[in-house]
Amino acid sequence: MKGLRTDGEWLQQKMKKKVCAIGAGMAGLAAARELRREGHEVTVLEQSGDVGGQWLYDPATDEADPLGALGPVKVHSSMYASVRLISPRETTGFTDFPFATMDGRDNRRFPGHREVYLYLKDFCDAFGLMDAVRLNTKVLRVAMTPSRRQWTVRSVGLTDADDKKEEVFDAVVVATGHYSQPRFPTIQGMEKWRGRQMHGHSYREAEPFRGQVVVVVGTGESGKDITMELRDVAKEVHIVARSMEDVTPGLSKVLAKYSTNLHLKLNLERLCEEGRVVFGDGSVVVADAVIYCTGYNYSFPFLDTAGAVTIDDNRVGPLFEHVFPPSLAPSLSFVGIPRKVFAPRFFETQGRWVAQVLSGKRTLPTEEEMLRSVEEFYRARESAGVPKKYTHEIGGHDRTYMDEFGEKYCDFPRLERWKYELLVSSVTNMIDNFETFRDDYQDSDSILKGVQEWQLSARHRAAARTSTAVTGLLEESRTVITDMQQLSVISPG
Ligand SMILES: Cc1cc2nc3c(=O)[nH]c(=O)nc-3n(C[C@H](O)[C@H](O)[C@H](O)COP(=O)(O)OP(=O)(O)OC[C@H]3O[C@@H](n4cnc5c(N)ncnc54)[C@H](O)[C@@H]3O)c2cc1C
Repeated sequence: MKGLRTDGEWLQQKMKKKVCAIGAGMAGLAAARELRREGHEVTVLEQSGDVGGQWLYDPATDEADPLGALGPVKVHSSMYASVRLISPRETTGFTDFPFATMDGRDNRRFPGHREVYLYLKDFCDAFGLMDAVRLNTKVLRVAMTPSRRQWTVRSVGLTDADDKKEEVFDAVVVATGHYSQPRFPTIQGMEKWRGRQMHGHSYREAEPFRGQVVVVVGTGESGKDITMELRDVAKEVHIVARSMEDVTPGLSKVLAKYSTNLHLKLNLERLCEEGRVVFGDGSVVVADAVIYCTGYNYSFPFLDTAGAVTIDDNRVGPLFEHVFPPSLAPSLSFVGIPRKVFAPRFFETQGRWVAQVLSGKRTLPTEEEMLRSVEEFYRARESAGVPKKYTHEIGGHDRTYMDEFGEKYCDFPRLERWKYELLVSSVTNMIDNFETFRDDYQDSDSILKGVQEWQLSARHRAAARTSTAVTGLLEESRTVITDMQQLSVISPG
């Protein structure tokens, strides 16, 4: 009967949710595609003028607050101009959309940031995601509706301040990243030091430091990258490690090679007003600038969960499997919280799980069971001696987690063996040969074979997509011709 839906249609409608994903970086895009695949109605709200998240390089910086100490940063991307991937392109792609080489593009295994951004744009085009993304739209507040069944999302259009909206969604997926809000140590004297202090978040290029004495705090990948390019132009660069354990063989090599202007220091102890910097071993340097490459904090300034989700020393919790807050699941979820994972692959897995739970295809344990599981996880981490601030660091501690997660929650395929081998060999090369690992590497036979097959399959997939697009165009033109023919029948002449 007209107006009555069939059982199937009714069920489909019931399972289909109106979902808001916040952020159009790797995680938000991965989630949006999975949500759509599952039949949900998705809106992605993105504050920037384009998709890409961190990979949308922004030459602007948080100039007025270069340490990011005064509140939420205004500039999202922490990319500096010279950033190149540290993960090989073969392992840094969506499962069914390889980060393949293309004519006229940056085809290096570890390409620059712009290539990753272009790849993410290509992904959006290939899966028609742009019509779900609302750009230049900053989310200001997310809170439950009074009925506690849905979420109110308040946003503002950044190109038109009058464009304020309050919308209601069945579910919200938070995918706003966590490499923007600086984390830095409190150092005695830092508020009075007369030199320039900034966080790596606000570093873009080495040139402004030409001829200067610079102290770089932190030996993570950004700290080492920035140190290496500063060394080319600065008078002296002092890289500060917490202990000798942080000094990798690769870092030792460059310290020996560039000993004329590159020096290692242990622990930044004190900054003195007149410009001296005092280190843990008692040595002193008179410096022009200190750059803190000391990591980032999770921050969700828009999220009001009435205390159900808190951030304590970089632990966002409680989150069942780093995704669902037990008391608000499944209507609130987080995609992209874990660090040191295969991105965007692992975000796809998380997004698929969220999409399937929302549609009712999968069920979650009870709230109590989820809470118990989170507490057990915390206890296991604590007894393994993992500090709280590393709660969401997965890769470094448990590489099988990602495969097991995918299998258990959404039948996601396991990572191919050769890709895992490639990642391990790249990381080993990075540790041993920090200066050269991106351009000088040797693949084992199994990696070579895997890469060749991967390239071939990437070409096939691209050809298949082109032929689907051509078929679509042909069908569209056929429809137009039929419409025109019908029109000419209705109104001849
Ligand atoms: C210097 C540097 C180098 C890196 N190198 C690598 C690498 O080699 N390999 C690798 O895998 N990863 C690397 N990363 C990590 C990188 O962040 C991830 O690859 C990936 O970008 C994370 O994606 P995401 O979507 O979670 O977050 P993001 O990319 O940060 O995207 C989050 C999005 O949310 C938007 N957003 C935030 N708040 C709001 C709001 N209130 N309203 C609307 N939109 C909002 C942001 O504008 C952004 O577009 C690097 C990061 C940095 C900083």
